[in-house]
Amino acid sequence: MENEEKVGAGSRRLSREKLIQAAAKARENAVAPYSKFKVGAALLTQDGQIIGGANVESASYGLTCCAERIALFKALTDGHKKFVAVAVVARWDGGPMPCGACRQLLAEYAPEAKVFIADSDDLKTVKTFTVRGLLPLAFRLAS
Ligand SMILES: [Zn+2]
Repeated sequence: MENEEKVGAGSRRLSREKLIQAAAKARENAVAPYSKFKVGAALLTQDGQIIGGANVESASYGLTCCAERIALFKALTDGHKKFVAVAVVARWDGGPMPCGACRQLLAEYAPEAKVFIADSDDLKTVKTFTVRGLLPLAFRLAS
């Protein structure tokens, strides 16, 4: 029942479960030789497309990039601009919460998105948040 939730609009509506599964699939391509902590993310665009991403680590640890930002950068540089949801999956009790850096980027480029979080060992238990809820009063440049 919970997993029957749909996101998106009209004929583009997609089950939350499908987006979670896309994040789990993206996780398979994580490049995490140091931490072994594999994370997958999947963004749902307003027009119904799914863009996945996974974390990539560097021997220079500070250069590592999270799955959420990889997915977001892929989507943005492919020309997508409107996002309705993002799913994040990793083997972590209760699911992996996005870090502060990812919350900032999501607040800038996907402010209306829902955020679905799941443990890769239990994809049916999903926590739902909003980007705004995860980063209230996000940093913005004055326009
Ligand atoms: Zn992050």
